[in-house]
Amino acid sequence: MPINRRDLLAGAAALGLQALPAESPASRKLKVIVTGGHPGDPEYGCGGTIARYADQGHDVALLYLNRGEKSCPERAADAAANVRVAEAKRACEILKARPLFAGQCDGHAVVDEARYREFRELIEAERPDVLFTHWPIDGHRDHRAISTLAYDAWLATGKKFAFYYYEVSDGEDTLMFPPTGFVDITATEARKRLACYAHASQSPDRFYALQSQVTRFRGVESGHVQAEAFVRHVLSREGPLP
Ligand SMILES: [Zn+2]
Repeated sequence: MPINRRDLLAGAAALGLQALPAESPASRKLKVIVTGGHPGDPEYGCGGTIARYADQGHDVALLYLNRGEKSCPERAADAAANVRVAEAKRACEILKARPLFAGQCDGHAVVDEARYREFRELIEAERPDVLFTHWPIDGHRDHRAISTLAYDAWLATGKKFAFYYYEVSDGEDTLMFPPTGFVDITATEARKRLACYAHASQSPDRFYALQSQVTRFRGVESGHVQAEAFVRHVLSREGPLP
């Protein structure tokens, strides 16, 4: 005979067990990591969500795969990297997050044994509760690289933290993205815009217009003015989303 929910609840009550309430984002301080291929990607894909987490008092780090440098493969800091790092720091200040850099080169992402280990160690040291990364079907190889590095780190550390994918520059970068959850960013969109425009060297007029179309459409889908959409990995624990 199939066991129904009422049987289960009756059984739990008989054992003196109570259903635990879902963990609310405000119930304790979380560590949140938003990974991105380049300075700007976490801000464009998740800026409104990042601002909401930060406003709730959570610790949010934006982990960029590279510094946007032009001098690869030497990996030395160059003028372009100096500009991009300064922009990333400013964007993080606006969102109340902190910047982290994984030390790879713009346009030359490497995924191999050593990089998997390096990235995993970085994530292990941060001990996140929630991690966001690029959706893996993407036109840019740096985005695909950090997506697979993050996924591998999640698997290798026993799927301990919640694991979400985000979308960015749809059509050019992200494709075939099927949202499983939404965050209302109506109240934080203005700060997201400021953070994206902090990346002044990266044509914000063009890219923010596209991203804004996406968040307006995600808002239509989810009943908000503007929303960011996410895909939770099917084996990931639930959120908490802010
Ligand atoms: Zn990018």
